[in-house]
Amino acid sequence: MKITDHIKNAKNLPLFSFELLPPVKGDGIGSIFKLIDELMPFNPAFIDVTYHRQDYTYVESSDGKIEKRPYRKRPGTVGISAAVINRYGVDVVPHMVCGGFSKQVTEDALIDLHFLGIHNILALQGDKLSHDKQFIAEKDGHQYASDLLGQINDMNNEKYIDPDLVVKDATNFCVGVAGYPEKHYQAANMETDMFYLKKKIDMGAEFVITQMFFDNQKYFSFVDKCREMGINVPIIPGLKPITSRRQLQILPSTFFIDIPVELTQKIEEARTGKEVRDAGREWCTKQCQELIEYGVPSLHFYTMGKINPVKQIAADIFS
Ligand code: FAD
Repeated sequence: MKITDHIKNAKNLPLFSFELLPPVKGDGIGSIFKLIDELMPFNPAFIDVTYHRQDYTYVESSDGKIEKRPYRKRPGTVGISAAVINRYGVDVVPHMVCGGFSKQVTEDALIDLHFLGIHNILALQGDKLSHDKQFIAEKDGHQYASDLLGQINDMNNEKYIDPDLVVKDATNFCVGVAGYPEKHYQAANMETDMFYLKKKIDMGAEFVITQMFFDNQKYFSFVDKCREMGINVPIIPGLKPITSRRQLQILPSTFFIDIPVELTQKIEEARTGKEVRDAGREWCTKQCQELIEYGVPSLHFYTMGKINPVKQIAADIFS
C-alpha cells in the first residue's frame, strides 16, 4: 500500500514507522530481522531501508604509492526490502539515490522494485563520497533528487529511456522526498532550500520525511513555512533518541542539526551510559508526546542499528 493511503486510511494517527540500515558488507541479515522482530508488536505501518553507495579510502602501500581502496559499505537495500515484505508483510520504503547511478541503471533498479511489489520510494540525491568536496553526479546520471523524481514520474507515465518501448505493465510508485527543518547544509539559505523542496512537491512527490531534529519548534516552523508555500503533503517527522555522549558531536557534524542546550546539559550531567540513554530516551518521548498533540502523520524513528531506545519509546506510546 502507498504511504499516503496508510495515512489516509489510518483509524488513529500517528502511525509508527522506522528506518533501518543494511548490515555492513559481509554481515548477515539476522540483525535486521532481530530489530524488526522486537518492533513488530507496535505495528509499524512502513519501514524505510537506507541506501549506501560504495565509498573509497586512500591508503599508502609499502612502496609509497597511494591506492584507492573500497571500504566496507552497506549493500542490500533492495534485497532487504524484498525480505521484509515477504517475512513481515509490512510495506517498505527503499531509499534511491542519484549518486553512482546512471539513468539506465536507475531504470533497471526501478523495474526490480516494481517486480518485487514495492510501491514506495524515497528519492534522494544521496550522500557525497567522503573524499569529494561536493556531490558529483554519475556520467549520464542525476544531479538532484528532483531529477530522479522526474525519471520515476516518467516511468509511472510509461515513458522509458527507449522511446519506442511499448509498456504493458506500468509502474505506479508513490514517491517521498527529504526535508530539512534546519536547512540542507549546502543550501545558501532556508528560502532557497524551501524553493527546491516545493519544486519536488510540484513535480509530484507525495510525502516528506524530515531530517532528525531535537527541538520541535524547528519542525513546527518548517511545517508552517511549507503550508504557507502551498506544500500540503504529509510531513513525517524524523526522530532519534540520543544513546551516547559522543553523539553530541557526531550528530551535529554529520547531519548539520543543532542539539538544544537543555538536552546537551542533561546528557553531559549523566554519570553512566545508562543515565545518558535514559536522558536521550526521555527527551525523545517528550518530543513524541508534543508531536502527537500537534497531529503528525507518523512518528518515524532513525534506529541506526539500536533497538532498545526505540522499543521503549514505542512501548510507552503505541501499546
Ligand atoms: P536535493 O533535493 O537534490 O537537494 C540537495 C541540495 O541542492 C539542497 O541544498 C537543495 O536546496 C539544492 N537543490 C535541490 N534542487 C536543486 C536545483 N534544481 N538546483 C540547484 N540546487 C538545488 N543519503 C544517502 O546516501 N542514503 C540514504 O539512504 C539517505 N537517506 C536519507 C533520508 C532522509 C529522511 C534524509 C533527510 C536524508 C537522507 N540521506 C541519505 C542524505 C541525503 O541524501 C543528503 O542530505 C543529500 O545531500 C541531499 O539529498 P536530497 O535528496 O535532500 O537532495
